[in-house]
Amino acid sequence: MDLVSGVSNSITLAKRLREISKNIADAEFKNVLADLSNELADLKLEAASMKEQLAALQEENALLRHVAVPAEEKPSGTKWGCYQFESEEGLFCTACWDSKRRKSRTTRFTAKFRTCPVCNAAHGTG
Ligand SMILES: [Zn+2]
Repeated sequence: MDLVSGVSNSITLAKRLREISKNIADAEFKNVLADLSNELADLKLEAASMKEQLAALQEENALLRHVAVPAEEKPSGTKWGCYQFESEEGLFCTACWDSKRRKSRTTRFTAKFRTCPVCNAAHGTG
């Protein structure tokens, strides 16, 4: 049972109590019951709004998880002045990774140099 249906059930119970209370001539009982009904109505609105917020946050979280680089990811080594990663084949720009945590695959420029298509940095053994 989720929060919204739990509150809805409580509201139904409060309504039944109100029906039963018609036979009870106690004003205080009726006042408390009316207060309870109001509280439950507020809670129902609050629960519905929380449910909406939760869905929006879950969606945002899934999106962030999809685009984010895992925090623990680090270059596993260097080759020809570029970074290598265990999780992905290829040679990556050190400047892009060090400044933006972005994996930019370098392309072969000459036998000794590779370039980054994103920041145009040249990498090589010189
Ligand atoms: Zn770069």
